[in-house]
Parts: sequence; structure tokens; C-alpha cells
Amino acid sequence: MVVSNIIEGGKTALKLTKEILEKEDDNLKVSYPGTNYNLPIIYGLLGKKVETVKDLKELINSLEIKEEESLENALDAGVVTLICAEAIEALKYAKSDKPYKEPYVGFIPDEILRGLGVPLVEGKIPAILVVIGKVGDKDKLKKLIDDIKKRNILALLVGDIIKEMDEAGIEYGLDKLLVPIGEEITSAIHAANLAIRAPLIFGGIEPGKVEEIIDYLKNRVPAIVVALGELDDITLAAGAGCIKAGVPVITNNEVPVIEGALESSDIDNIIENALKMKGVEVKVVEFDIPVSVGPMNEGERVRGPDMYVELAGPKSYGFELVKVVDKAEDKVEIIGKDIDEMEEGSRNPFAIIVQVSGDNLEEDLEGVLERRIHEFFNYIEGVMHLNQRDQVWIRINKNSFNKGLRLKHIGEVVKQLFKEHFPIIEKCDVIIITDPDKVKEELEKAKEIYKKRDEKTKSIREEDVDVFYGCIMCQSFAPTHVCVITPDRPSLCGSINYLDARAAAKIDPNGPIFEIPKGECLDEKLGVYSGINDVVRERSQGSVEEMALHSALTNPCTSCGCFEAIVFYILDVDGFGVVHRNFRGETPFGLPFSSLAGQCSGGKQVPGFVGISIAYMKSPKFLQGDGGWERVVWLPKELKERVKDAIPEELYDKIATEEDVKTTDELVKFLKEKGHPIVKKSEDVAEEVEEKEETVVAEKEEKEGLEVGEMITKLAKEGGIQIIMKNVKIVINFNVKK
Ligand code: SF4
Repeated sequence: MVVSNIIEGGKTALKLTKEILEKEDDNLKVSYPGTNYNLPIIYGLLGKKVETVKDLKELINSLEIKEEESLENALDAGVVTLICAEAIEALKYAKSDKPYKEPYVGFIPDEILRGLGVPLVEGKIPAILVVIGKVGDKDKLKKLIDDIKKRNILALLVGDIIKEMDEAGIEYGLDKLLVPIGEEITSAIHAANLAIRAPLIFGGIEPGKVEEIIDYLKNRVPAIVVALGELDDITLAAGAGCIKAGVPVITNNEVPVIEGALESSDIDNIIENALKMKGVEVKVVEFDIPVSVGPMNEGERVRGPDMYVELAGPKSYGFELVKVVDKAEDKVEIIGKDIDEMEEGSRNPFAIIVQVSGDNLEEDLEGVLERRIHEFFNYIEGVMHLNQRDQVWIRINKNSFNKGLRLKHIGEVVKQLFKEHFPIIEKCDVIIITDPDKVKEELEKAKEIYKKRDEKTKSIREEDVDVFYGCIMCQSFAPTHVCVITPDRPSLCGSINYLDARAAAKIDPNGPIFEIPKGECLDEKLGVYSGINDVVRERSQGSVEEMALHSALTNPCTSCGCFEAIVFYILDVDGFGVVHRNFRGETPFGLPFSSLAGQCSGGKQVPGFVGISIAYMKSPKFLQGDGGWERVVWLPKELKERVKDAIPEELYDKIATEEDVKTTDELVKFLKEKGHPIVKKSEDVAEEVEEKEETVVAEKEEKEGLEVGEMITKLAKEGGIQIIMKNVKIVINFNVKK
């Protein structure tokens, strides 16, 4: 029965799509905004870029659906349905700049997907659910959304469910991880084309390698379709397409079960059962307090008119501190007034001291634990926490206050979350102080502790330690990627510095972050260590032989997909540009961040490109193997400002931004005008190359039978090679073993 419905649905979708396209002008250009992957479903599955309506017509007219009722034919009809939906949606974007009106979002750009990379990898967002259809019952809807929210799942919503949420007063939006994609069933393709970009962006898989893409989606992307209410044939067919692409479907309708691919569940348990289909387990911690607690509240803002009280902040004072003590008692203590004793709208001094004890805890972990206070406060509904240490700024909104939230509840939540997240903590005391004099007194002591910590952190360099740390968390998306974290090189996602990594490896010895004994230093400038090579070779399953910490040209570090910025080599000037993820414009190559990111994602080692964190740009060892800041020629203005203190003063004005140049030709001109050191260097190199070319010719003449290929290999073995020919430029970068 379902097989015949799917085949019928596929046939109807194909017929409708042909009819719709028929009326359109062949020359109309088709594309989605903010993606480097054309029409991702078509590009991903077929490896074909579609540029115009004519291309779309040719593609759609070439598709067919086999009539014979078999599962295989039904799944193929499903894929045809997905391609048809992509064609119809692409056409909407061809005819309008903004085909989706509020609240619907339609196509989701690459930038947002990249931003979701780290929370997905870290498991903070444990799954992506595509929820299609209608619930039909307010209470069941509330429970369904609550089940999604308390697990911090990203839900892409399609169809009537969005209106149902409006009617039930349930808020949604990307900040709440409840994303209203669209009303019509074809808009579901924007959930599918989001999923299919994961293997392309994070896995580095080439478009068109359909088996690899399906395998990746099946095994690495925790995406599941939840189809609710009555399903028509076209929806069934689209679901079949998802199954074929490795995304399972669960529904509250009766369907023939294909375990792990198509299952049925009652709506009350559908979220839990959906997660089981992908083997995702989420531990839900319950709190006995009057408001909700969980990552779903993290994006919440408390604006002035909604604020009940403000704690610490720029108009008052306060701090937060974690201290490792010999014996904590698992108590929560309030010194001073609770919020019901404070005047509405008032600003109050505030301090929180968290004392933790446990056999394996040590003072060095305090800073790392302390940074989690920010996250834990923001988990609490109606609480907004900004900044850290003595800059902390907290607001509590009227709603949560009226529901009964008090400081003792906040203390309990913080205590419970610390113990849940860090099993190394055996006991935890939370002391909240609002007494102004006491806050003042403790603040001075806290400042001394921060100062001591900072001095210690700042002074650590690579040469001072015996171990570095590795992280393979991103291997769930980029199978050969290994981050190496040193005191001079924080992780490329920017979220883990050396001390964080050290703490993480200590707190969870079997986790994804592990020690790397340095071994012998093989090249100080490039940052090549035998210990790193041994570990990286093993952890990358043999795909990376050698890694240099501080070079983008010679055996650079691998890049997963969550890097904050990319270093890219600019041949025309033999220098580097760096572009960060939030930059919306184009680099001098005429390419945006997303296009460049596509060159080195997926755990690849690509000479000339390397993903980095912005903090690494502030390291004294930044790209030292390639000449450091003296080789940096272009940065987006915003990034240049952010790292201003790290740029040598005499170079600052010589580095171009998007406001100075638009093309590489303009860049060359700019650098010459400003007298950037690279200009002098290029002239020297050109002379050197000329000399080398002469030597090559001379040696070839001298040694009969020596091929140019052999000569290149010889030069490469001697230290890497770049040959620059006039008019035609060919550059060969070899990965060099030292
Ligand atoms: S440290 Fe590296 S591997 Fe770990 S989460 Fe960040 S980018 Fe991924």
C-alpha cells in the first residue's frame, strides 16, 4: 500500500514540476542565497550545478519513475520527489529576492550551518529533527515541543505545526532552536538541503559521490524526519527520498516498519523513539524549581522593561569565582537579601563563589570550571548572564520572579549542574552574596586570584611544556581531523585553549581530548614535533603523515569545518590573507569565506589553506614557519581591529582590508604603494628563482637524461619548491618531510 502511494506521489510531483517549469523563461537564473553549494540536493546527489531554468528543465525532463511496485522503485521515486521539490523551491528564489515572509525562513545559508557545527559536534545539540505536519491537539503539541526543547534538539518545522504553535502561544525562532522553515511541503527541502550540506562542508566529500554522502548522512548526521498527522502521497514520497538519503523517518501513522529507517510511534513518545533510531541518548536532568532549566533558554535576553532586578553589572559591582577546597559540603548559602527583598528595577551588588572538592581536582582547573557559570546561569529561564569574573552582569526577568524564582533556586541549579557536568567534583558549595560590604571585601580577594591566574597562563609557551593536547571531537563530522592544542595554538574552533584542554583531559580521561607527548622537536620554526606526528598519523587513520603547527604552506594542520577563520595563500603576492567566519564580503580572490572554507574542510591537509582560531592570531608564533605577520597582506577590517594589538605597529597600515582593495591586482598595487615588506621579499625571491631556473637548466644540460620531473622532485626534497613562470603561473607546493 505505502509503496504504491510513494510511487504515485513521486509521479504526481514530477508531473507538477514539469508543468510549473514549462511556463518559465529558460534564461532565468536559479540559485539560493548564501551557499557555496548551488542547489545542494541536486549538486550533492548528482554532482551537477544547475544555473538556469533551462538546466532545471533538462534535468527534470530526464527523470523517470518506474511503475513496478518494489521498495527500490519507491525509494528512487522518493529521490525524484526531493529533486522536484528543490526545483520548485529554487524557482521561487529565482523569481523573488525574499520568497519567504516572516515567520518562515525558507533556505538556510551555509553560515548558519557552520555556526551549528561546534554545538552539534560537542553534542550540545544532540540531534536535528525535521518535524512535518500537524499535531491536532494543544496538550500533545505542548508536550512534543517540551520534549524537543528540554533535550536541546534543533527542530526544523514544516507545515501546519507552525500555526498550531502560534495558536498555543509557543515561541519559536533560531535562538530557541525551533526554526519555522515553511508552510508548504516543498519547503521541507530546505531541511533536506541543510542536511546534505553537512557531508560537503564538514566531511569534505565531493558533490556527486552519492554513496559516500549517503553513508555520511546515515552514520554521522543525527537527523530524523518526524512526520505527523495525515500524510498525502507526495509527503510520503518525500519521506522515502529522505530514507534513501540516509535520514530515517518516524510517524504517528500506521506504516510498514523498516527498522532504523521507517518506524511508527505514538505521539507522546515520538521524540524519544526518533532519537533511538539514530542511537542518540540524551540525559534530561530534572530540577525542582519553579522555572525551566536547560540549554534551550540560553539565547534569552532580558531587556530593561522586562527586568525585575539587575545583579552586579556596570552600574553596580560583583564577581564570580570557583575555588578548589579540601572539603565542600554540598550547601547553598545566601549572604544578604534574596531577590524578593530587593526593590523592583533595582541594581544590586552580587557575588557567587563556588567551592568544589574532589580527590582529582586541582587549582589549575578553577578558571576552566569558572567559565561554565555563565552557561549554567543562562540555562535558567528568565535569567540573563553576561561577561565573567568581576565584569559579570546578571538580570532576572519579571516573569520568572513572578513564577517564584529566587537566588536559592539559582544556587541549587548551579550546584547540581556542576556535579552533573563534572563527575570529578565530589562536593560543591554555592555561596551567593548580595550584602554590599561583604561583596566588596570578597571582590578584592577575587581580583588577586584572577591576577595570579593570568600571569601563570600568559607565561606558558610551547617550549615550557612536555605535553600538548589533541582533540578528535570533530571526527564525527570530519573523520581524519585531529586538532593539536598547544599553549601557542588554541583549537581552531576557538573554544579550547591549552588549559581548557588540559582540564578536559584530566576531567574525562576517556574523552575526545587527550595528551600528546611532545617528543623531539624536528623543526622549531615550523613547529614540527615527533610526538605530534606519531599521534596524528595514528588518529587520522594514516591519512596525515606530518603536521606543522605554525605553517599554512608546509604540512599545515588539518581543518574540520568549525574554524573561526581561514588563512589562504595569495599567489600573486606570495602572501596570506585571513578571513573570519562572520565576514560577509569577498576576499581579493572574489570568493567569500564559505567558498574558501570548502577548500580545506573535512579533515584535509591542504597546503596553502589552514583553519585557525582568532586567538591564534594573537600568538607570537602565528604562522612563524611562513614568515609570520610579515607575510599577511589582507584582513577584513573587523578582524584587523580585533587583532590590532598583535599586529606589529609598523605593519598595521600596510595590511589591506576590503575597504582598500577588491581584487588581487588592486592588492598588488596597494602593497607596493604602502611598501609592505612582502614586496621587497617577492623581488628577492624572483631573483632567486631566476637563478635557480638557470641552475636547473645548467644541471640538466650537464647531466644528460635527467628529467625535469626528477629535478623538481630533487628540489622539493631539498626544501620545498615554487616555480613561477612569467605570464603562465604554475605553483607546485610539495608536502615536505623534514
Ligand atoms: S578542538 Fe578541534 S576537534 Fe575539538 S571541537 Fe574544536 S575544532 Fe573540533
